[in-house]
Amino acid sequence: MTSPHQGAPHAPSVPSVIEPQGLEQLFAALLRRNYKLVGPTLRDGTITYEEISSPSDLPAGWTDEQQPGMYRLKTRDDNAVFGYAAGPQSWKRILYPSVLRLWQAHRKGGKVEVTVDKPAEEPRYAFIGVRACELQAIGIQDKVFLHGNYVDPNYQLRREHNFIVAVNCTAPAGTCFCASMDSGPRAKGGYDIALTEVILGTEHYFVATAATKFGTEVLGEVECRPANEKQVTAAEAAINAAAENMGRTIDTTDIRQLLNRNFENPRWETTAARCLACANCTMVCPTCFCHNIEDVSDLTGEVAERWRKWDSCFTTAFSYIHGGSVRYSPAARYRQWLTHKLSTWHDQFGTSGCVGCGRCITWCPVGIDITEEVRAIRDKDHSREEV
Ligand code: SF4
Ligand code: SF4
Repeated sequence: MTSPHQGAPHAPSVPSVIEPQGLEQLFAALLRRNYKLVGPTLRDGTITYEEISSPSDLPAGWTDEQQPGMYRLKTRDDNAVFGYAAGPQSWKRILYPSVLRLWQAHRKGGKVEVTVDKPAEEPRYAFIGVRACELQAIGIQDKVFLHGNYVDPNYQLRREHNFIVAVNCTAPAGTCFCASMDSGPRAKGGYDIALTEVILGTEHYFVATAATKFGTEVLGEVECRPANEKQVTAAEAAINAAAENMGRTIDTTDIRQLLNRNFENPRWETTAARCLACANCTMVCPTCFCHNIEDVSDLTGEVAERWRKWDSCFTTAFSYIHGGSVRYSPAARYRQWLTHKLSTWHDQFGTSGCVGCGRCITWCPVGIDITEEVRAIRDKDHSREEV
């Protein structure tokens, strides 16, 4: 899926090689076109996506160690700038802000005037370093916000001028399982330019391809030379090694039916005994899109506002319907989240709601692991036992 400005995607161009200093030219070509660059950088002990302006902002020589409930930065023994896995924030933070005012009403001389917040003129964002799993996640949110019955004008504004520099993953974390979800580590589409970072001994370069007209134009302003067979093979080997070194796997065979017939599996209660219902897993998930609408007024009663805020199926209030919550127990809420992600999302949107980024595992304070949960349900396939 591409942004409207990019034009129809074409087959990736012939691979070229860019030296590390070529990233300066890539950044400059995007800045000349008035893009605001957002990319990975070190912040608060993590590698997260922030506004950046130069390759020196990238986390050169840093990587991360991730396990259930654990994230730690570590130094690398080389100078890789994209040698890390998905961090705490995904691109949804930019495309779908966590808090957004929708309208304001002012009381003036006995009358009420309502001002609907028109989407503000948004900067044109160029995302640097988007992983394959995240491209898939952006594609999923495009379906929700752009291709359903209603188009979200705020999302549309941010997304339609979006330029994407993807980076094929060569450093999966201990919690990654995109290979099982067929969403990575190789970017399959939805980008303007894709890079693969290769470090072999003293050699350090990027193998680059463009997949849109605009990407070709931008790449044309970067010094590069055609990649030779050895360089293409090295890039492919690095991506293949990432696919083989995923920290986790999940068996998705028959997963929709498996979850549908296990509503009463005792595992939901076992997991709920650990689950804090803190909603971290939904906040970090790049595909979760649920939100709440809140109306507030000032103390004088002169101004009222309506806000959209991220919400989560892990709160009791989320499923409150007149008289009470539909999903009162943590077990019901965890079951709702996992079965939506991996089963009913298919019915609703035609794809899985999980791209295997592993964030919900890393950032769960008690280390609940979606891959382990599915395995446990499969091992004790309750309904099958009863048959
Ligand atoms: S459910 Fe977990 S692993 Fe899957 S996309 Fe969301 S955060 Fe990533
Ligand atoms: S599964 Fe983990 S992150 Fe999600 S609500 Fe429960 S404790 Fe929080």
